[in-house]
Amino acid sequence: MSPTRVLVLNSGSSSVKYQLLDMRGSDRLAVGLLERIGEETSRLKHTPAGGGSREWSGSIPDHESALKAVAAELAKDGLGLDSPELAAIGHRVVHGGRHFTEPTVIDDAVLAEIERLIPVAPLHNPANLTGIRTAQALRPDLPQVAVFDTAFHTTMPESAARYAIDVETADAHRIRRYGFHGTSHAYVSRETARLLGRAPEDVNVIVLHLGNGASASAVRGGRCVDTSMGLTPLEGLVMGTRSGDMDPAVIFHLMRVGGMSADEIDTLLNKRSGLIGLCGDNDMREIRRRVDAGDERARLAFDIYIHRLKKYIGAYYAVLGRVDAVAFTAGVGENAAPVREAAVAGLEGLGLAVDGGLNAVRGDTARLISPADARVAVAVVPTDEEMEIATQTYALVIGSGGSAGSENLT
Ligand code: AMP
Repeated sequence: MSPTRVLVLNSGSSSVKYQLLDMRGSDRLAVGLLERIGEETSRLKHTPAGGGSREWSGSIPDHESALKAVAAELAKDGLGLDSPELAAIGHRVVHGGRHFTEPTVIDDAVLAEIERLIPVAPLHNPANLTGIRTAQALRPDLPQVAVFDTAFHTTMPESAARYAIDVETADAHRIRRYGFHGTSHAYVSRETARLLGRAPEDVNVIVLHLGNGASASAVRGGRCVDTSMGLTPLEGLVMGTRSGDMDPAVIFHLMRVGGMSADEIDTLLNKRSGLIGLCGDNDMREIRRRVDAGDERARLAFDIYIHRLKKYIGAYYAVLGRVDAVAFTAGVGENAAPVREAAVAGLEGLGLAVDGGLNAVRGDTARLISPADARVAVAVVPTDEEMEIATQTYALVIGSGGSAGSENLT
């Protein structure tokens, strides 16, 4: 019988998130997180199926040691990386540029292209590459698949993907809108169609992925036609620590008048802006607690967040022409009823409304929160990026027998 397990690895600069899944029944066999790689106080939290988390803390100097620690933890449950039941390792890769429109079996040409994209993803792609190389060293015989955050957005038309700047300059530096969170937008738009009992090809959805990072997408018949993040994840919605949209001239102003360097402004806009810059907190739970206690700064931060969100709902309504559903997902989207309520308040003219009772119900499954007679469905759809990565990885490896995928490099 063919092997049925897929290990999903999400390698950050100082962390590795992982899940081991069995694709026969889409079962999660283990999930875990190793944080603070390179510090004295690295920490591993490992949860096998059925619960009973194990925690370990100590010094993990690099990604190689990290993956070995993960493998050792999995082995304790009889799920080691040497298992013949492991079919493939699926890697989240943040930036796939224009070339990678599909998940791709990793070979040397694919690695070289991911490396070539480092200038447009300086924080993410190097860590992703390290994770891949480490996993390859541990299991050189096993197919390793890259699943790109950008892939779902490669269907965007040029009218949405291009910035209105000089074409030669843009092309010379590969400046265009790539979009991110693609596996989440793909999964959630498909699950929303399923919730409506319709085929994805027949459904137009606005997906609002509201986590610490946040992005919106307009999905027509299962294909992305616009998304709010751009060359980098900085564009678009107000996020936990990122500004989202702004007049680009703010940057020149900060350089010329504020005397700030490019790196300082980068840090300002990516790490010290958004909700945390506006009110000092980036956790929506804390912001709501402060709003309810009458805190003015938290109220203003919340209002700015909602105003931007509403603008994107309106814009993507216009882009799609007909909208069947608006789907909320990720940490804020799945949990913050006040955000969902405020985001569609006043949009009855567009056929959008939230039922207060349904919106208040907490849950971890996909559900509708719009009134039964609403023209446009409003849904909460928990995202599952790891399952999507595993599904895509498994389909590719089992479908192709694990052959190299660099034909995607055009
Ligand atoms: P994510 O990036 O998808 O993991 O989302 C993380 C964010 O979700 C946190 O920073 C919080 O702002 C938000 N969040 C998580 N749980 C809740 C909750 N129960 N209510 C409101 N916001 C939440």
